[in-house]
Amino acid sequence: MNVVRSRRELRLVLHDGRRGLVPTMGAFHEGHFSLMRAARAECEQIVVSLFVNPTQFGASDDLAQYPRDEARDVRLAEREGVDVLFIPSVDEMYPPGFGTWVDVDVSGGEASARAGHFRGVATVCVKLFNLVRPDVAFFGQKDAQQAAVMRRVVDDLNLGVHLRVLPTVRDADGLALSSRNVYLSADEREQALALPRALETARSAPDPVAAARAALNGLEPEYVELLRVGDATLLTAAARVGSTRLIDNVILEGELA
Ligand code: AMP
Repeated sequence: MNVVRSRRELRLVLHDGRRGLVPTMGAFHEGHFSLMRAARAECEQIVVSLFVNPTQFGASDDLAQYPRDEARDVRLAEREGVDVLFIPSVDEMYPPGFGTWVDVDVSGGEASARAGHFRGVATVCVKLFNLVRPDVAFFGQKDAQQAAVMRRVVDDLNLGVHLRVLPTVRDADGLALSSRNVYLSADEREQALALPRALETARSAPDPVAAARAALNGLEPEYVELLRVGDATLLTAAARVGSTRLIDNVILEGELA
């Protein structure tokens, strides 16, 4: 596996053949591995980017605390058969004078809860697409609205990258895997289970939003909303448990291609 940190080094290790990109912020877990494995099955060269993208964090977000363990991530990416691990510095991605943004017209859910979040996500993903030039990019259903936003960007800007959206990987108790789960105390983790349970319970209810709200067991949601992603309808929710912000969703109808 090649670990590269600069655009120049990256260019040197790319070769012809179907290329897959898995954009991540590191602190790898089974959710990330499922994307890497899907890429491995479909592509000749797999590039994983590991970049905690500051522009998608708001002023009150957890950028400084975001879990980082580069040595562990390098080991695990190697184990998963990743060909290239791209770990750029903030300066490499946003050199002095940087001033061009991909501003996506999107509202509701994370867009309303985290102003500027998707501008940061779309900008960094377009930069990664331009640097890696993947045939296929892999995203997780866990961040379904992010996948929907990136579909919009790829279509609107004619980027010619195929997007795959892979199902959410969960712990045995149902909690969606997330790098942020390490912040949860044992008690908080127990409370957090109300989120996937409420979504699951609400799935077949006549009014899923009301049913999920009612089933949240005291957890105060930031939002519970229906979200269209392509042909699929999802029930999405975000809630804070202690100081940790969690998001989750279930598919009500259709499929995420
Ligand atoms: P992150 O490192 O949290 O930015 O996530 C990188 C990619 O992994 C994104 O496309 C996420 O949607 C995806 N991902 C994160 N958690 C999960 C999960 N539990 N199951 C499937 N995909 C996930």
